[in-house]
Amino acid sequence: MKGMPRLGWARLEGVVGGVTMAGVGFGSRNSLLRPHKAGLDWAIPTLMEGANMKPNPVLRDVPDYKRFLTVDELNGSAERLARQHPQTVRLVPIGRSTDGETIRMLRIGHGPEQLLFFACPHPNEPIGAMTLEYLSHRLAEDDQLRGTRFTWNLIKCIDPDGTRLNEGWFAGPFTVTHYAAHFYRPAAFHQAEWTFPVVYKTLTYLTPIPETQALMSAIAGLKPRFIYSQHNAGFGGGYYYLSPDTPLVYDELRALLRDRSVPLALGEPEMPWAVAFSPAVYRVPTVTEHYDFLEKYVPGDPAAKITGGASSFEYARPISNPAMLICELPYFYDTRIENTSPAGMTRKQAILDGVACSQEVLGALRDALAPLQGKWAVRSRFVIAVENFIELIGSSDAAKAQWAEHTPELDAPATVAQAFDNLLVTRFYRLLVVGMARRALELELRRRRSSVAERAMETLAARFQEWAHELERDLDYRVIPIKKLVEIQLGAALAFLAHL
Ligand SMILES: [Zn+2]
Repeated sequence: MKGMPRLGWARLEGVVGGVTMAGVGFGSRNSLLRPHKAGLDWAIPTLMEGANMKPNPVLRDVPDYKRFLTVDELNGSAERLARQHPQTVRLVPIGRSTDGETIRMLRIGHGPEQLLFFACPHPNEPIGAMTLEYLSHRLAEDDQLRGTRFTWNLIKCIDPDGTRLNEGWFAGPFTVTHYAAHFYRPAAFHQAEWTFPVVYKTLTYLTPIPETQALMSAIAGLKPRFIYSQHNAGFGGGYYYLSPDTPLVYDELRALLRDRSVPLALGEPEMPWAVAFSPAVYRVPTVTEHYDFLEKYVPGDPAAKITGGASSFEYARPISNPAMLICELPYFYDTRIENTSPAGMTRKQAILDGVACSQEVLGALRDALAPLQGKWAVRSRFVIAVENFIELIGSSDAAKAQWAEHTPELDAPATVAQAFDNLLVTRFYRLLVVGMARRALELELRRRRSSVAERAMETLAARFQEWAHELERDLDYRVIPIKKLVEIQLGAALAFLAHL
């Protein structure tokens, strides 16, 4: 989820960064070899794929996908699967999207305990959809994996409207520039994950969007034992959120990343109020923790700085107290993200430099778009999202600077990972907002040509090219194959379920 949180789980980017992972040792991976809990009809093969171990067949068989599937392709595949396996697979409607598209859920198996997986809670995060594409077919055909304990409820795409607006990058080329040019992420109050009803202190949010209402209906009806909200990050390393605390699974989760050469995210946590259980493993954060954090560090009413509501986890807790897992994976990584050697600057300086960098981009956006304020002919999703992110990032940058200035521990040396996170990763996420502003202007100009919109477009298109070029030059990134991403995301679920 970065304030834009890391564009993974969080609605806001890591506002202040809190916990440093540097110097924390990793446990032995021997727990991977332990026998599975006795008495289950359902047990996945041991996940460890290191020396002398056979690969887990469920993960080994993930196809070598060359692109992400479109919404229409995901739907067509689900329909075919239900037709081919009428005894095992049902496809049921759970609601409609904002633009009126039916949202459906696959129900596979007949076990008494309900598992709920949902993908694309942020529509720029389609790894989960590919995971469910594969898992649904595998479950339909693999009696042992399906078992008799669980019913597997899979929502391949909870936000079809937003996902369609990302399809421009789904087939590659997988570069930072191409991704940013075709990226869409809804405003915080239009995100399916963070718009569940909540009443807490001065915060009242009671108007869930249609996609969230669909999830509420699924959660209320299923009373799930486990929820997997399938987010993913964009750039960086991998990390997890989970509940309850399950120390036995940490090594397996980290091994899934390391065995596939995906670095652990050991820089700044995505959300400063997130509690770290272990390196790259956090407790699932909540909006009430966000509220309390704002109350402590930022003057004024916290509720005024939170747009949207609670998460699926908070909504489901009083209903069925489910276990919860989130696996944040990047599409791109640079090995500096896990380098814990000293960067030659203080952490405070790294944070303040990152804020300055972010403010430069924000200033350019504000200046270019100011003449259009209140005058857009097409108030598209892109306009709404860009305005919301400018506001959210502005307030989170202010809080972050405040926190950096007044927290003595931040005079400690920064690691390379922390400096990288604050400087380069921040630039990556800011470029995405510039990309969305450019798309907003494209739509505007298609509807009505005006010199104001043309000037704004000329300015932002030039800045986009300039910043994208600098990032391509300054980052040394690799693209992670989709197969590996799916293996990690699915492997994490199977590992965690083995401990339920
Ligand atoms: Zn997300």
